[in-house]
Amino acid sequence: MVSQIILCRHCGSDRLRRDGMALNGKQKYFCNACQKGSRQNPTPLGYSPEFKDQVLAAYHERASLRGVCRIFGICRQTLVTWLKKSRETAQAQENTDQS
Ligand SMILES: [Zn+2]
Repeated sequence: MVSQIILCRHCGSDRLRRDGMALNGKQKYFCNACQKGSRQNPTPLGYSPEFKDQVLAAYHERASLRGVCRIFGICRQTLVTWLKKSRETAQAQENTDQS
């Protein structure tokens, strides 16, 4: 089962926690990164991890943000967020290997 990835509409962080239900029955979120609550629903990313891997692999081959975004039809900010995250993950793994 793949859980839905939801990013903060203010800062793009995924450090969101649930903040009760809105009157319309939709889930509300509070961002731990920028400390902003979101009354509007954050944008869910409808991309699978496989798709994300594909996009990141293409980026590393072509090294062009604009080109990769155009090919896969994703917005630039989305790709930037993914790249940042994948770098952080790689760094965390390196740190683990050293210890
Ligand atoms: Zn935020």
